[in-house]
Amino acid sequence: MAQRPYIVGNWKMNGTRAMLSEARAIDRAAQRHMKVEVAVAPPFTLVHAVHREAEQIGVGAQDCSPNADGAFTGDISATMVADAGAKFVILGHSERREGYGETSELVRAKADAALEAGLRVIICCGETLETRESGKAEAFVAKQLKVSLPKVEDAGEKISVAYEPIWAIGTGQTATIDDIATMHAMIRKLLIEIYGEEQALEIRILYGGSVKPENATDILGTAEVGGALVGGASLTADSFMSIALAATESVEG
Ligand code: PEP
Repeated sequence: MAQRPYIVGNWKMNGTRAMLSEARAIDRAAQRHMKVEVAVAPPFTLVHAVHREAEQIGVGAQDCSPNADGAFTGDISATMVADAGAKFVILGHSERREGYGETSELVRAKADAALEAGLRVIICCGETLETRESGKAEAFVAKQLKVSLPKVEDAGEKISVAYEPIWAIGTGQTATIDDIATMHAMIRKLLIEIYGEEQALEIRILYGGSVKPENATDILGTAEVGGALVGGASLTADSFMSIALAATESVEG
């Protein structure tokens, strides 16, 4: 059975407890969008608090350690975020790949740890502008995913992929609808090779990169786009839930 569109807010390093009112507003509004799965990934410090407020939305983390426990000062394990109420974790975001040198091998190790802790994972991928302009975007993303994706049964339930061209994140620029469709079709083909058709067709491929209320309808209406990973526009209930509304309308037609 095809899964509901998945609209995930990545709050990045934004939010103190003052943001809980926004989380409550998102949760209340999500109750009017039952055909869409709405989730937010606040900073670690708010995961438990948002989880306690949330009746409808899923709560996730933005990263986790590949290690189970031990002498890793400053790190947070997958078990810890699950204990705090997270149901999923975003892994391999370009801000971690680029800013902290995270390799696809490390992303895979984190994904294994997350799945072991009972979390679902959103595996991010995406190319730089230089790679796109050199015509190698698809090959680059395919290589990232081949290494980053965990081998798991029930992949359709446990894994989502987020295609996020790096040059579109937080810049106001989005990929063209044709480029999104081409990349998502390539990713779907790859998922079928890795997981087999039955599971692969259940995996939602999200688009991320300056998704906002004004472009959500076009993006979410594109073939093989199963939702959106939203940064800036997820910080207020108003803009985030306008994107959820576009997702609802894309289902209802
Ligand atoms: C993101 O952080 O994953 C993202 C896509 O950010 P923005 O929507 O702000 O471009």
